Amino acid sequence: MIDTSNSPHVKLRSIGIGDCQWTEGFWADKFRQCEEVMVPHMGTLLKGDIGHGYNNFKIAAGLKEGKHQGFAWHDGDFFKWMEAAVYIYASNQDSKIVDELDEIIEVIGKAQEDDGYLHTNIQIDGIAHFSNRKYHEMYNCGHLYTSACVHHRVTGETNFLDIAIKNADLLYKRFHPQPKELSRFGFNQSQIMGLTELYRTTKDKRYLELAEIFINNRGKSEVVEDASTEGYPIGDMVQERVPLRQETEAVGHAVLALYYYAGAADVYAETGEQALIDALDRLWNNVANQKMYVTGAVGQAHFGASTRRDKIEEGFLDAYLMPNATAYNETCANIANAMFNYRLLGIKGDSRHADIMELVAYNSALVGISADGKHYFYANPLRYNHGQREYQDNRDCTESANREPYIECFCCPPNLVRTIAKMSCWAYSLTPNGVAANLYGGNRLATKLSDDSEIKLHQDSRYPWDGDVKITIDACKPEPFEFLIRIPEWAEHGTLLVNGEDSTAETKPGTFAKIHRAWSAGDTIELKLPMDVKLMKGHPFIEETRNQTAIKVGPLVYCLESPDLPEDVRTLDVYVPSDIQLEKQNDPDVLNGITTLTGNVQVKSDERTSMYKPIGDPEWKSTSVRFVPYYAWSNRGNAEMTVWLPVVWK
Ligand SMILES: [Zn+2]
Repeated sequence: MIDTSNSPHVKLRSIGIGDCQWTEGFWADKFRQCEEVMVPHMGTLLKGDIGHGYNNFKIAAGLKEGKHQGFAWHDGDFFKWMEAAVYIYASNQDSKIVDELDEIIEVIGKAQEDDGYLHTNIQIDGIAHFSNRKYHEMYNCGHLYTSACVHHRVTGETNFLDIAIKNADLLYKRFHPQPKELSRFGFNQSQIMGLTELYRTTKDKRYLELAEIFINNRGKSEVVEDASTEGYPIGDMVQERVPLRQETEAVGHAVLALYYYAGAADVYAETGEQALIDALDRLWNNVANQKMYVTGAVGQAHFGASTRRDKIEEGFLDAYLMPNATAYNETCANIANAMFNYRLLGIKGDSRHADIMELVAYNSALVGISADGKHYFYANPLRYNHGQREYQDNRDCTESANREPYIECFCCPPNLVRTIAKMSCWAYSLTPNGVAANLYGGNRLATKLSDDSEIKLHQDSRYPWDGDVKITIDACKPEPFEFLIRIPEWAEHGTLLVNGEDSTAETKPGTFAKIHRAWSAGDTIELKLPMDVKLMKGHPFIEETRNQTAIKVGPLVYCLESPDLPEDVRTLDVYVPSDIQLEKQNDPDVLNGITTLTGNVQVKSDERTSMYKPIGDPEWKSTSVRFVPYYAWSNRGNAEMTVWLPVVWK
């Protein structure tokens, strides 16, 4: 959670961590589960012998015998879990959380070398520092800085922050001035976000300077194999072909790309450099309008090539090339898309960025964790057919037919858990003279407006199961100020009432409705959003969605899953009549309480023997099926699933 309260080039500023708390409804339930299950359970994994994250620090600190286990970037994933724990503490003030973190921080401090270096894989295995970028030193540093800044903001303590500062000072010495042999080093760039946050926290300009160096270095050197790149793809995979300010297309590893863009957005928020934001606008447009799934997911393929034909992994393919069954859509990439959009929301004040944050949150992020909060998806395809793909050779379970209890490459689970833990921080922003509501759900906000005056309010809503949102002011200054209410891009004919009467504010979908007036305690804003069932279609260039539809209600994408089909029917047999009537049913007992959709579809059985056959004259049957939210799939055994279904036009 970034702190843009003093950033000169933002329109909507971040609220403080803990200022907003979910009270009841969808996110309140998720937060509660995060507090009671997700964070403690993940702590047990990472502090024990399965996750081994804490063991690595103990070994590096000389407190334990043993080998480093897990991937080179495992420290960074451990820092993400620590960050999640801090958000929980910000809400419940349970001192046990801070005490435990203090104990861990002491061990991390002991593992840190005198010059500030910290990377347990390299330390334990005796590898030369900053010798090969495949070890993800920058990734670990970035997550260390972010986690330490959040810890300092919430607890006021400096024990973790001191470790981050010592490490960042070392980084500054090594990378400033820019040594030629390290000019291609800063990839997987969470350090750009982390360094900017460290600058915001400490006001030490060297960290911002270093963040800019890591942006400026990209695309400056010749793309050839050398000692520092051996063992990891080069070129577009790591966004090093073209300098960021000249780039026109999102390429390569999707997490690397979006962390890079998010970091550059953080730097823009401090420097206001036009060339940087122009590039980010182009890249946002390329991602959001040419490479993003209907679920907000990104990174179409596990393996493939960029448009400039560099080999890529876990990343972007060509525009409009959107495979469903083989879609990779790493949970981290989807979250990084939301993180990039949260930063752009601040910079631009444009609600369409909050639309994407919300789309990701409800669909392609949340699908990464099971209803019990203990199993994880890394890749998030939009279709799964029994027998189409084999997964058993997949050593680290990044592509899996079912959510896994542990994934060796453990980047996604703590990333998702910290995102759920901090979701309330994204719910509101501060305008120059007022407040903006970005996300909906039962919550309570107590914060200070930009002029330091207090505002308290609460929100009542069953969103997204219901489109009614009621905001009640509990305390505020007497002078007029503005209230911005996000009207989602899908919400045609939304209505807005102030104190029970029609508001004159324009409720255009994809904008913030703006109400500027004097407010007092007891004033209410009522937003009514139409939660109609919508049959969506893809752009005609997307071959994989031609003549198919995806079902959406508000921000939620629905899917068809085999447990909701008659036994002899497979998901590939189902066709949706264009005039289908879908009935909503709220079922508190299904999958932690969801709204399902039921309606009649047409079914025909296709042989699955030869590649091609004449279409023949199908025999249609009509049957009633149930659709569930996409995020909730794969909680009822090994199931088939599809988001996109072929349409039969009526
Ligand atoms: Zn990941």
